[in-house]
Amino acid sequence: MKIKIFTIHHAGNSFGRQYGFSEIERMHAASKYVPSMLGFHTFYNFVIEPDGLIIHCREFTDEIHVCVVGGGDYRQFSKESIASLKYLVKMFSPEKIQYHKDYSPKTCPGKLFPYDEFLSTG
Ligand SMILES: [Zn+2]
Repeated sequence: MKIKIFTIHHAGNSFGRQYGFSEIERMHAASKYVPSMLGFHTFYNFVIEPDGLIIHCREFTDEIHVCVVGGGDYRQFSKESIASLKYLVKMFSPEKIQYHKDYSPKTCPGKLFPYDEFLSTG
């Protein structure tokens, strides 16, 4: 399956507090997102924790949404999480990488996301 669009998000609220996967899962369950075939409510296909752990949350077709844990408007992402994100980009080799802020009036994945490290991929 060729991945057409690979969208990058971060998890963090306007107060700069950092969510982990379990909190994303709790919030998305409360938002009544339909459970995935993998048994999670999390909307994203993958979540990357600050220690670099990649959690596969939801099945996908030709589009992938990846959420990197970290408040990207307030602090740098861990180098482990960015390394895991690069691994996913390399593995799926998407036709296009985009950011949530590209199609929505948000800053996601944040002002401190290392955008320049992802320019040459895809
Ligand atoms: Zn987002």
